[in-house]
Amino acid sequence: MYNAASINKTLKGELLQETGFSEIEHLLLDSRKLSFPETSLFIPLVSPRRNAHQYIEELYRKGVSNFIVSEPVPLEKYPKANFILVKDTLQALHTLVAFHRHQFHVPVIGITGSNGKTIVKEWLYQLLEKDYNIVRSPKSYNSQIGVPLSVWQMKPEHQLAIFEAGISQPGEMVNLEKIIRPTIGIFTNIGEAHSEGFLNIRQKINEKLVLFAKSDILIYSKDYLALNECVLSFHSQVGKKETQEGGGGGPELFSWSRKTDADLRIVSVDKNDNHTRIEALYKQETLHISIPFVDEGSIENAIHCWALMLYLGKEQEVIQQRMDLLSNIAMRLELKQGINNSSVINDSYNLDLGSLTIALDFLQQQQQHATRTVILSDILQSGKSDASLYEEVADLLHKKNINKLIAIGKNIGREKKSFQQVEGLKTQFFNTTDEYIQQFNSDDFENETILVKGSRIFQFERIGKVLEQKAHQTILEINLSAIAHNVKLYQSMLKPDTKLMAMVKAFSYGSGSFEIANLLQFHGVDYLAVAYADEGVELRRAGITMPIMVMNPEPASFDAILHWNLEPEIYSMHILLQFMEEVNTAGKTEFPIHIKLDTGMHRLGFVKKDIPELSQALTASHLLKVQSIFSHLAASEDPEKDALTQQQGRLFYEMSHELQKALGYTVIRHISNSAGITRHPDLQLDMVRLGIGMYGFDSGNGMQDQLRSVSTLKTTVAQLKNLDPGETVGYGAKWTAEAPAVTATVRIGYADGYPRRLGNGVGKMLIRGKFAPVIGVVAMDMLMLDVTHIPDIMEGDEVIVFGEDLSVQQLADWADTIAYEILTGISQRVKRVYFQE
Ligand SMILES: *Cc1c(COP(=O)(O)O)cnc(C)c1O
Repeated sequence: MYNAASINKTLKGELLQETGFSEIEHLLLDSRKLSFPETSLFIPLVSPRRNAHQYIEELYRKGVSNFIVSEPVPLEKYPKANFILVKDTLQALHTLVAFHRHQFHVPVIGITGSNGKTIVKEWLYQLLEKDYNIVRSPKSYNSQIGVPLSVWQMKPEHQLAIFEAGISQPGEMVNLEKIIRPTIGIFTNIGEAHSEGFLNIRQKINEKLVLFAKSDILIYSKDYLALNECVLSFHSQVGKKETQEGGGGGPELFSWSRKTDADLRIVSVDKNDNHTRIEALYKQETLHISIPFVDEGSIENAIHCWALMLYLGKEQEVIQQRMDLLSNIAMRLELKQGINNSSVINDSYNLDLGSLTIALDFLQQQQQHATRTVILSDILQSGKSDASLYEEVADLLHKKNINKLIAIGKNIGREKKSFQQVEGLKTQFFNTTDEYIQQFNSDDFENETILVKGSRIFQFERIGKVLEQKAHQTILEINLSAIAHNVKLYQSMLKPDTKLMAMVKAFSYGSGSFEIANLLQFHGVDYLAVAYADEGVELRRAGITMPIMVMNPEPASFDAILHWNLEPEIYSMHILLQFMEEVNTAGKTEFPIHIKLDTGMHRLGFVKKDIPELSQALTASHLLKVQSIFSHLAASEDPEKDALTQQQGRLFYEMSHELQKALGYTVIRHISNSAGITRHPDLQLDMVRLGIGMYGFDSGNGMQDQLRSVSTLKTTVAQLKNLDPGETVGYGAKWTAEAPAVTATVRIGYADGYPRRLGNGVGKMLIRGKFAPVIGVVAMDMLMLDVTHIPDIMEGDEVIVFGEDLSVQQLADWADTIAYEILTGISQRVKRVYFQE
């Protein structure tokens, strides 16, 4: 049990103010995620751009009374709070959680490596949950912030802990080692990905190995040669150092290999249908497991788990039995379109308090429907009594403003009362998933966001099926975490006072409207911009409250603009006068507008000689209030046109200065788009307008490497055909088989936005990791691929049209166009599926 006094003692900080010590249970780092004010300790983190100390006041108002700070605070404003002053709040978080970790003496498994960390962690949980009460990292919480939050969950009732650790630059693992202090280590593998912060692969491996400096055992695969060499030298070095200091030496090694002698020597890997049988030699005995997966990643992950089970001394029979039941891990929270205009978040693979809280946060972020519904099963293995567990869950549902609960399971049913007491929460209880599905009535749902969250054995994917709208098999997946990453990357490049306007025109460059706007609102973007008023109206209807600029205000849409409080771009005297008249008739004043200047694009906007007349019209009445003055760069991405860009910047400065002087009040000035932000930092001014960069593309200064790919367009193979030499394919018989060939017909065509230009071998798609060229012409709803060289292909296989491994830019190059056109051209009949990692 912690309180401000005991925590201060651990941190060796300074207790600035003490007002009675209440118990502290939760660490709060993100003010938006507050659930338990009375028992939360707020630790405001400070980065070059964001200083979370600014949220102290709001949190104090909401009932938080324990804070760690690294800056002076006006104590008199917070008479009922405890403040601990430290030098660095992130450091304090690490120290506190490292202290917490040392209160426990159970085995702790630490996992690092380039890929597979989360799957290995979740699989170990599946394999060992019957034997131990396990605490583990939620989702992929493996960063400098995620690790402390994971380890903080350790409680006396836990018998085993499994945590993952990930780093992006040298020097980070030392902190994570102190917090996790694994007794058992697993190094999954090493890849080139995310090398940015590292000089080379060895530096990266050695940095990661720091996690295991004090472990008893390290499990790894010898088949990564660089990894094997680094492990051996780490082993001998750490061993020596520790012995000199009288310590116990470095970790023992437990290796496995498919190629050479090792503790666990894999002798054969046989794939058939949907299973893989893996045979190995271990202590001179031949053993085998069978897993319900056939991909290489899963095989490697399973062998790591196998090695660990052997190390723990589990019986071979038990291992075999459980390996056979391994199941897919939902690495992400998906948001899909549901029945009766609902949205469904399907997270039906596992359930514990940590992952429930994360899912509820995601649900709370969704503003598109007024009603929020949760379908929840029993929570198994929580280590708490049911009474206190479900009371906590009920409290959580209350804090997250949930309106409807459908509870399934005998345990949760016995604690009915806790839920029935929650104000404004409608409840329904069922004993089993079957019972619920039998009485399911689709009319019970309308215009709501539904979270489906259950323990594995409840098979809630069956409920997902009845709630989700049947998706046509071509879908565009949007990674919301990747958009958030990209936005943060640009935010980090801005001067501290520069605001950010996000361009969500054309359905957010094809990615969807309110889903993206919602995310941007959540991440503290200052402004949104759409092309037409109706796009803005849709966002308002979906609960977006932030300011929205409309770039093409048409007179027919003026009343909608006024009614929904949208802010028009005014680009000519004609439109200015028309709009003023409308504002006047509506009896409004100081209505917000944005003035567009033409500095060289020659598209829309006032030119220099218009400024006096414009100033006069604007100052003659109080009808309008200029929020911002802006212009658009014509060639910010092109180094050869930098003289033009600079010229536009100078002209903008002059014109906006003149106009601002006439107005007599300050307005926001902005001119940069995505490439402008990265290539012309001097033009950041008061605000920037971020468009394509947010969706993962930027040709400026090495940006492309740091951006994450956001969208994946997928479809499936409808039919395979074996052709004899001389047979032709498609309309106009444009392709002829020269040798025996196999073709795949896939469910996408030009009506979905796949360019017709990519027919006849110009474009390619990815199936089972291999490129397959488009053959013949692209038809309206279908096209054909040559898949002769893809051995195991089957009907129903997934086909990647673009995504991480086949970029939109590549498609754009093939089609001789730009990424913008491909992205915005994906037709609305292609369903969008959103997910958060
Ligand atoms: C679309 C648009 C942007 C964003 O441009 P990107 O190149 O996508 O960053 C900025 N400003 C205006 C006026 C736009 O129309």
